[in-house]
Amino acid sequence: MAGSGKFFVGGNWKCNGTKDSITKLVSDLNSTKLETDVDVVVSPPFVYLDQVTASLTGRIEVSAQNSWIGKGGAFTGEISVEQLKDIGCKWVILGHSERRHIIGEDDQFIGKKAAYALNEGLGVIACIGELLEEREAGKTFDVCFQQLKAFADVVPSWDNIVIAYEPVWAIGTGKVATPQQAQEVHVAVRDWLKKNVSEEVASKTRIIYGGSVNGSNCAELAKQEDIDGFLVGGASLKGPEFATIVNSVT
Ligand code: PGA
Repeated sequence: MAGSGKFFVGGNWKCNGTKDSITKLVSDLNSTKLETDVDVVVSPPFVYLDQVTASLTGRIEVSAQNSWIGKGGAFTGEISVEQLKDIGCKWVILGHSERRHIIGEDDQFIGKKAAYALNEGLGVIACIGELLEEREAGKTFDVCFQQLKAFADVVPSWDNIVIAYEPVWAIGTGKVATPQQAQEVHVAVRDWLKKNVSEEVASKTRIIYGGSVNGSNCAELAKQEDIDGFLVGGASLKGPEFATIVNSVT
């Protein structure tokens, strides 16, 4: 843990769940003991955000998985930041690799969404990460820095941003980055922030890791100096396992 502030663990539920399964998951989370020294956020699909915000009884905060680029209006299928705030959402995940590579969102579009959300007071979990072929071509840092720059160019402040480094080859594949691979990129990201934003932002921004984190590999990852938490997909759908990950803080 190098960033100041608490260890941060987010559960990204992606496009999973039903009313029933989510009721069960929330009830598991409500009855689980979570380390007090960890910020915990869960990110349900849009249609269940209200249900989850209303039924969580503890201190877990809720995040959306996307938000519109500006004020609401005639934008069919989109959800505005104002609507998210209206139902008690505190965070939004932006730049997730599934939105970059499946939906086709580019750096500029993601940057604009981040700037708007931050200006309106939502926290942003800003995702970056390289594809397997980019890693194999030795371009990991270039790709991450370019994605980072697109955020840095437009965000009004870094107070409310958590950076999630998620190598695309590790997401949903069961192929987790080794603690050393993750640490190497986290240090590089922190250095980049130091050189390109400020020393203060570099030291206080939390950089979390995502990509096949589970109850068995989280402890080793959490020991790395520059890993300040996790963004968890698959394993966040199981309450007890997610709690193990939250409680892996060292
Ligand atoms: P995973 O997903 O934990 O299922 O690999 C992580 C993410 O996409 O945030």
